[in-house]
Amino acid sequence: LKKNYFSQPVGEPDSILISNAKIALTERGPESRKSILVRDRKIVAIGERSDIVAKHGRATIEIDSENGIVIPGLINNHCHMAMSLLRGYAEDLPLLSWLKDKVWPAEARMSPSDYHLGATLSAAECLLSGTTCVTTIYFYDESGNEAEALYESGLRGTAAHGIFDWTADEGLKRTRDLVKSWHGKDGGRIRVATSPHAPYSCSPTLLKKIEAHRKELQKEYGDEYPILNTIHLSEAPTEIAEIKSKYGADASRGVAAYLRSLGVLSRDTIAAHAIHLTEDDYLSLKESGASIASCPISNLKVGMGVADLPRAMSEGITVSLGTDGPASNNSLDMFETMKIASLLQKGLKGDTTLFDSTQAFDAATIQGALSLKQSDSIGSIALGKKADIAILDASNVRSTPLYNVYGHLVFSAHAADVKDVIVDGRILVRDSRILNLDTQSLLKDVERRVAELGFIAS
Ligand SMILES: [Zn+2]
Repeated sequence: LKKNYFSQPVGEPDSILISNAKIALTERGPESRKSILVRDRKIVAIGERSDIVAKHGRATIEIDSENGIVIPGLINNHCHMAMSLLRGYAEDLPLLSWLKDKVWPAEARMSPSDYHLGATLSAAECLLSGTTCVTTIYFYDESGNEAEALYESGLRGTAAHGIFDWTADEGLKRTRDLVKSWHGKDGGRIRVATSPHAPYSCSPTLLKKIEAHRKELQKEYGDEYPILNTIHLSEAPTEIAEIKSKYGADASRGVAAYLRSLGVLSRDTIAAHAIHLTEDDYLSLKESGASIASCPISNLKVGMGVADLPRAMSEGITVSLGTDGPASNNSLDMFETMKIASLLQKGLKGDTTLFDSTQAFDAATIQGALSLKQSDSIGSIALGKKADIAILDASNVRSTPLYNVYGHLVFSAHAADVKDVIVDGRILVRDSRILNLDTQSLLKDVERRVAELGFIAS
């Protein structure tokens, strides 16, 4: 049965002074010995500790960061959090057999309370690795879902219900229910997106119907929190042919160009993967203002190829990063993701200047915020922005010496260096431990449940 493993409901935001950071990576770049004051969910002061205390008084909680690197929380812009129950369940299989023989039959056995359980496990992994905002797509059911797990964990996030041809009307109804129950919850911390699964699993008619539905929902629920649309796009090289054979539709100019011709590609679109793009696709993404959520580790693991991120960026397309689901990664570690994203471009093209550490870090922070249309409130440490912050230990062997903070964060730092995490002005992780989470009972229930589901021999 479904359980809330976070012992307290998400409460009032804290008043926090992060003091004397060894390095604070603010909007202005790396700064040393700066302090940051958080109040009412927001960053209200950045400066010398003494000046802040003189002007604003003391905070209820002070985090001494003399040995810490203070960074904006990382944004994982494409995930399927519920799937952590399938992490490592099937490995090294050909893609189709992995999906058809293992993943889909296992998913069919999972119940809504399992979606909630899996998403809770993923939320814990995100928090411990400095991720403060997640975009996640699975199935919505009132009795158990990812949005609820996001809410309970204190994470910021966007949840979506994936729609396929064979779930079309039901999918639209569930999306509506998801919006009604969760969109804008807790001051906009929880948001909802529409999500046609992919252009080869949703007919052109359905794609247009979902887009019309999204616009209606946006009207109904106001403009304060945009309802975005997230879709898997050009992950496999076979998509153009599949669209043709399934729907008789011509996507020969490219899958993004095809979506644009249907009127379903816009600045509100987050396109996950975007690997096998044509010239027309780059133009379509650029002109529509759609953004990319690249998942380099998942793409490698399921053998789909490598997205040309420098090319997309040179067109001015917003490039963010994601892990994809735990079944195809298998971790939700955005530090790994930044590193591999950068190394892939350098290694494949023989050009060490490509997708450098600053670009990789930005892709996991401010570019993610831009993609989510939340760059005015998250994605960097700046006055007036929401306090989504991670603090890393910089006193360990891995962090000494430390010359370039971006290079350090992307190429040396580990998720395990994350000590403290603040989301929406609440301290959720302290000394690498999630406050208020009954971790033991969560892990025990996950083990019990995967045995019950027959995922492991009991
Ligand atoms: Zn995905």
